[in-house]
Amino acid sequence: MVKAVVGANWGDEGKGKITDTLAKEADIIVRFQGGANAGHTIVNDYGKFALHTLPSGVFYNHTTSIIGNGVALNIPLLFKEVQDIVSKGVPEPKILVSDRAQIVMPYHILFDQYEEERLGKNSFGSTKSGIAPFYSDKYAKIGFQVSELFDEDLLKKKVARVCETKNVLLEHLYHKPAIDQEELLATLHEYRDMVKPFVCDVSLYLHNALKEGKEILLEGQLGTLKDPDHGIYPMVTSSSTLAAYGAIGAGVPPYEIKKVITVCKAYSSAVGAGAFVSEIFGEEADELRRRGGDGGEFGATTGRPRRMGWFDCVASKYGCRLQGATDVAFTVLDVLGYLDEIPVCTAYEIDGKQTTEFPTTVLLEKAKPVIEKLPGWKCEIRGIKKYEELPENCRKYIEFVEEKIGYPITMVSNGPGREDIIYRNK
Ligand code: GDP
Repeated sequence: MVKAVVGANWGDEGKGKITDTLAKEADIIVRFQGGANAGHTIVNDYGKFALHTLPSGVFYNHTTSIIGNGVALNIPLLFKEVQDIVSKGVPEPKILVSDRAQIVMPYHILFDQYEEERLGKNSFGSTKSGIAPFYSDKYAKIGFQVSELFDEDLLKKKVARVCETKNVLLEHLYHKPAIDQEELLATLHEYRDMVKPFVCDVSLYLHNALKEGKEILLEGQLGTLKDPDHGIYPMVTSSSTLAAYGAIGAGVPPYEIKKVITVCKAYSSAVGAGAFVSEIFGEEADELRRRGGDGGEFGATTGRPRRMGWFDCVASKYGCRLQGATDVAFTVLDVLGYLDEIPVCTAYEIDGKQTTEFPTTVLLEKAKPVIEKLPGWKCEIRGIKKYEELPENCRKYIEFVEEKIGYPITMVSNGPGREDIIYRNK
């Protein structure tokens, strides 16, 4: 069976923690899109980790961790991450890399920086990991597939061809140093030698695993609202963040994805630019940011303070719908225990009219939040294992949200650790 773990919102919903928890019962965990531009924070018996490329299941002995063809693969960063976790006592993980994955090139990272510099105050708030230039090249058909590293003749010719166009842009648009072909080729040889032991025909591997009845988890990065088609375009990421894309980015048939576990955080946070209707500011935001997540809401990759907001029922209902949520994992609920009253955004007002349907970006820019307030529970809920043992107001908050979004909350996460999870039979 294949299960996808994906985000309903802007990312940072706690997918890493949910994947790490569910990976206990899984055989294989696959990253199917995105790159090292965002991170998952995981807290377990080995310590606290920020993963960027490795799937969140790498901490178990019994799992195989796969980098699918849909990922933007930064080869040196992947191996740095492996070294990092092994140096902290995690057993050497079993890793496979798709022969169809494409490679983040050193110049993708440079182009990302140069373009953000050029745009100045109109920049997209990119993490400058090369993701947008990477996916642009992939679809412009000038990307480098892992398999191509192993054909020297092809590689040489392609490097020459790609450098020709890139160097025109570097010289005339960005006024930066040109790419040295020999140097680039030498770097690609290093990448080839690093990745060689792990390269695999992943879709075939997964096909066989499914025949053997193996349990596969697909781990998404970011969330619905950062999807290039269904998100807040153009303030989105460059690869699809939807469970449906998991079939493509891993190479499994779409009908094999039986469960779509959609992660929603009990309040909102976002990074980068773009409309964020339920956003809060000042001391109210600072307090939530300080208390949020596990040690504050700051980017796992960049350390940037995240923008904060109250739970947004409109965005989350939409986020769950586009993911095709079979289950909602409602996370970081413990953080809200300090509030007397918990504001929730239940609708948007656009041009004087109320709606609970998430609009396109043009209209979203005009939306104002309609806020309802629920009573807080004013206590610590970490450590509680049974749904019925949660304080009444806490259950009411969960049930209120569930009713508004229209998808079943079957998991409640009440702390950053693997064991901090309450299953709810629906
Ligand atoms: P991801 O990108 O969706 O995996 O999310 P991140 O890892 O960037 O952000 C989630 C943050 O919340 C991390 O610091 C987690 O350790 C933390 N976290 C996850 N679930 C919970 C929870 O239920 N309670 C608390 N307090 N923190 C949590």
